Amino acid sequence: MRWALRLGSVYGISIRVHFTFLFLLAFLFLMSALAEGWRVGLRSVLLIALVFVCVLLHELAHSYVSVRYGLRVRSITLLPIGGLALLEDLPREPRQEIHIALAGPAANFVLALWLGVLWSVLQPEARFAPVLSGEALLPSLFWSNLYIGLFNLIPAYPLDGGRVLRAWLSGRMDYVEATERAVSVGQFFSLLFILGGLVLREPWLVVIGLFVWWAAMAEERLALLQSALERMYLEDVMLTEFHSLAPSDSLFDAVERALHSLQDDFPVVAEGRVVGVVTRNGLLRAFAGQRWNNSVQAVMSSRFETAQPRDTLGTAFKKFTARGLSIIPVLDGDHLVGIVTLQKLLHSITFLSRKGAAEMEFFRRG
Ligand SMILES: [Zn+2]
Repeated sequence: MRWALRLGSVYGISIRVHFTFLFLLAFLFLMSALAEGWRVGLRSVLLIALVFVCVLLHELAHSYVSVRYGLRVRSITLLPIGGLALLEDLPREPRQEIHIALAGPAANFVLALWLGVLWSVLQPEARFAPVLSGEALLPSLFWSNLYIGLFNLIPAYPLDGGRVLRAWLSGRMDYVEATERAVSVGQFFSLLFILGGLVLREPWLVVIGLFVWWAAMAEERLALLQSALERMYLEDVMLTEFHSLAPSDSLFDAVERALHSLQDDFPVVAEGRVVGVVTRNGLLRAFAGQRWNNSVQAVMSSRFETAQPRDTLGTAFKKFTARGLSIIPVLDGDHLVGIVTLQKLLHSITFLSRKGAAEMEFFRRG
């Protein structure tokens, strides 16, 4: 995430603070320092910083359980409205997602329990009333953890409670449908937050409501994309009308075909079998080296990957990115039945990750 300051890393997960959060701290300090003096200002900033340490522990709890399930976590960013853990892999097992989601609020409840015990030991006469003030750090932290834990359990996707709901639904229906239902519930709650914020004149509730709305939509797109990658097959998106070259063709033939079609990368076929590929970059290199009299045989790459019609888009995408490929011939047995180019695959993915595409009949196949 841009505009974030890197604090360090825990278990290879980089911890960042978004600049808006630092602005918030500075703003709060100025406001309370001007109103009640710098000592009070410092204590309020200290309280906010400590609350965000608890938010960080909440995100670390999610990350810890994710890593235990073998999922990679890239970073944790602290924003003014809370923390955000960025997972490289998404949990697909409903049980895993439920455990990961519940770990965050559980961390806050454990913290609240410790702080509550400490509070009652240190200040046995204190009143057990909600408070949020830099002058009462211990009780404020106790209540903050209780609030953070409870708030995140609201079933408003993508809050943790919403993730539990999605996981629970996805055990009963299609993953995309489960996500869509959880997103609808999440958007219902975000409207409640916004309305409540307006009625109660609490701007933070409005901000949180808008954030939940936006995040729910972003997560929905991610779920559709992931679903497209894992559940669509190459036979659904591969090019079945394409040109191929023969090893004895000249480079001029290759360029001729590239100029008269939308195709930049070609499979090279000899006696009905794929023996290599010619890529756009390969062609450009040959021409830069003034090797235009060469045959296709001389410039083709014979180190190439093939795929099968029933391979998923995700598998193909990994092949493209892992080896820097730009074309993959699709074979049925030995027979060349289609090609997939990186450009075409990216187009398909962009198209399929839109909401409307999810309703298309073929999308739900498999
Ligand atoms: Zn959480």
